[in-house]
Amino acid sequence: MTVPRGFQFFMHPGPTNIPHRVLMAMARPAVDFTAPEFVASRDRSLERMKGILKTTKGFVIAYAASGNGAWDASIANLFSPGDKVLVPTTGYFADRWATTARKYGLEVEVVPTPERRAVDPEAVARHLAADAKGAIKAVMLVQNETATGMRHPVAEVRAAMDRVGHPALYLVDTISSLASYDFRMDEWGVDLVVGGSQKGLMLPPGMSFTAIDGRAWEAAQSARNPRRYWDWREVVEDGRQVRFCGTPPMAHFHGLEVALDMIEEEGLENVFARHRRLADATRACVRAWGRGGGPEIFPLDSEFASDSLTAVLVPAGHDADRVRAIAQDRYSVALGRGLGELQGRVFRIGHMGDLNEPMLLGALAAIELALAEAGVPHARGGVEAAMDALRAPAGTPLAAAAD
Ligand code: PLP
Repeated sequence: MTVPRGFQFFMHPGPTNIPHRVLMAMARPAVDFTAPEFVASRDRSLERMKGILKTTKGFVIAYAASGNGAWDASIANLFSPGDKVLVPTTGYFADRWATTARKYGLEVEVVPTPERRAVDPEAVARHLAADAKGAIKAVMLVQNETATGMRHPVAEVRAAMDRVGHPALYLVDTISSLASYDFRMDEWGVDLVVGGSQKGLMLPPGMSFTAIDGRAWEAAQSARNPRRYWDWREVVEDGRQVRFCGTPPMAHFHGLEVALDMIEEEGLENVFARHRRLADATRACVRAWGRGGGPEIFPLDSEFASDSLTAVLVPAGHDADRVRAIAQDRYSVALGRGLGELQGRVFRIGHMGDLNEPMLLGALAAIELALAEAGVPHARGGVEAAMDALRAPAGTPLAAAAD
């Protein structure tokens, strides 16, 4: 039996590694959540979240709930039973959001997307153009489908909606892209954004967000879906959240302040650049493994491969879960499993949040060992390919020393 020693390399696509600074900030005794100190911190963080989402028009509400709660909140507040919504399929998480809508009595019209491909904005436009009576109340898109490691074209879907002049609201799930790669709520005309704490924000699960613009807020005033815990009208005054239905997630707020400090210190665009760099290295590694018919990056178009995780498709007849089990049990490298119909076909390497090059390279090296031990055909040299992708040109200056 192997006794685990050293660090666990936690490479899940959420939850992600929690920085020590965040953990320490959260380890605080309870405080009065109506006291000025907490209220000021809460208000500051909700305001700063607008910067992450690049909105000045919208405002952010937080919930003591995982991302599923923010899905419920979006649907409970915006719609009435019988309303129709359009959901481009992207995989497991788009399906689950659609299921949530159905449970609230909504009719869901699906825009099918071929497996391993990104959502086609033209297909969305066709469905909207055929809706002459304006029955479709909203388009619901997942920006980063965590089950497939694929990014979907948020700005292009907006452009398609505008082209056909359809008035539907535009709802986007950013749970696994938030603070990992770019999202522009105002510029991309998104009316409602769903976010979560446990991925790019580097917090534990249990806090989620919706960012709401004027159109979404207006829709919530006349919507007839039942709501209590999620009711925006109970917690918002003058365009900002002033209370919670119940006790706020106080420890998460303590952690959020520090997580936002860390993002600000690095610079949001630098955070994105780091995610891109680690993603590029991971993709170079998987491509090297795949030479001559081995594992493949799940998205077929590299343009749409996610910067926050890579889903790796193992060759038919091989078991991705066996690779995961070896990586975990022998090398303490925790990987994400394939979800739904992808179970056993893919494993997922999370490379979002608090992560650097040696953590990634160590994990990729262990995965390469696990592939060999699981008998999955692959070419050697994945780690070298990842190193080549990371190699800085000779003479690149170091970041300024701290002292
Ligand atoms: N949406 C996406 C894209 C996700 O990746 C997840 C979780 O991983 C969710 C929604 C659901 O969030 P939670 O698990 O926090 O409820």
